Amino acid sequence: MKSYIGPKAILEKKKKYIMPCLAHFFQDPPEFVKGSMQYLFDTEGKKYLDCFAGVSVINCGHCNPEITQKVVEQVQSLQHVCNIYLTENFVNLAEKLAEVTPGKLQKSFFCSTGSEANEGALLLATIYTKSSEFIALRNGLHGRTKLGMSVTGIGMWRTDPNPCGGISFAPNPYCYRCPLGKKYPECDLECANQIEDIIKTATSGNPAAFIAESIQGNAGIVVPPKGYFKRVKEILEKYNTLLIIDEVQTGFARTGKMFAIENFDVEPDIMTMAKALGNGAPISAFIASAKIADTYTRPGASTLGGNPVSSAAGLAVLSYIEEHNLLQNAYDRGVQLREGLAELAKKHPIIGDIRGLGLMNGAEFVHADKSPAFNELDEVLEEMKNRGFIIGKNGISRNVMAFQPPLVITEENINDVLNNLDDVLTNKKL
Ligand code: PMP
Repeated sequence: MKSYIGPKAILEKKKKYIMPCLAHFFQDPPEFVKGSMQYLFDTEGKKYLDCFAGVSVINCGHCNPEITQKVVEQVQSLQHVCNIYLTENFVNLAEKLAEVTPGKLQKSFFCSTGSEANEGALLLATIYTKSSEFIALRNGLHGRTKLGMSVTGIGMWRTDPNPCGGISFAPNPYCYRCPLGKKYPECDLECANQIEDIIKTATSGNPAAFIAESIQGNAGIVVPPKGYFKRVKEILEKYNTLLIIDEVQTGFARTGKMFAIENFDVEPDIMTMAKALGNGAPISAFIASAKIADTYTRPGASTLGGNPVSSAAGLAVLSYIEEHNLLQNAYDRGVQLREGLAELAKKHPIIGDIRGLGLMNGAEFVHADKSPAFNELDEVLEEMKNRGFIIGKNGISRNVMAFQPPLVITEENINDVLNNLDDVLTNKKL
């Protein structure tokens, strides 16, 4: 039996050797040592239902045997050569991505993280349009790199005291707490309309791109209302401004569609993806139409971007999603979860709003006056963890319970989470 150092020693080493920006979750955190599909196991062998999937990474399940086998085969035959030499996995993966992404998206650039993919997408937009002005959304999250962080609107992730200039922020389509104090649909999508004012008043007239997550993840699972992205695209087209959609958290069947933007019937000009593409292997990409992509001609490559092993993982992920119909399961289990949460909200007033698509769902915890109930949420998440359920948390006030489980989660699993949540909320009189 392998021995483990355990949570206490990990926390001590973390404090001594890891930069303090990396927070940890739970007051009494377990050490995870094993994963199997929708389940995690700690050092004591205790089993947990994973309802967060490492923030929408493990869409196909932990250590999925079909994917692991392909990765192991590749590790054992060829792990890496400089990508100026020929190997075939990355071109096969790029071909597959061209097939499964919306519209004319065709040519990919592979890298390793979501931040890099967004940084690359913003660079491509600059090369194509010759502008380096951008519009982003309030409370969006796009990464830790210089420009990626500069277009990130969520306060807690804007660490850089001197972000890049030329970036304007538009109000985010957060209907539960509309930043413009309006109500949908009477608002006539004022949050989208304001993008035109921003272009006219805060830019030189033709900004390179507008970047947004199709559903804002860290902002608290903020799902735009119907028509939002269509209106945005109409405005952008008038000013030759590109639409960059960040699918880092929402891609690969998470919302019941291969990419969340398909729920809004809009074709992005450039799209970014990461996390679930590798199901745990580091791989990310940005993809654009041939017309846009073909302007990126100066040398550009990422050492490990699209390496044979990560690309094997990507190919295995796409096959698994298709062969096991994860789109349908994400859709069906998402409906079941939201219906169950809606029932709980009738009994437990702390649940103020439920929103999501497929298996990307948030339940916002609020007090009677709608103020964020973040302490209560922490207590509930701790108790759920003790009962064997790992559930996430996000939102600018850290008061949104986040359900982003592996897409292989079953009907019985969802009933189990809902029953336990009901019990915990009842015991805590919330
Ligand atoms: N975009 C979105 C929507 C994200 O959620 C994240 C990470 N949470 C990133 C970009 C950055 O990805 P990474 O941490 O892989 O650089």
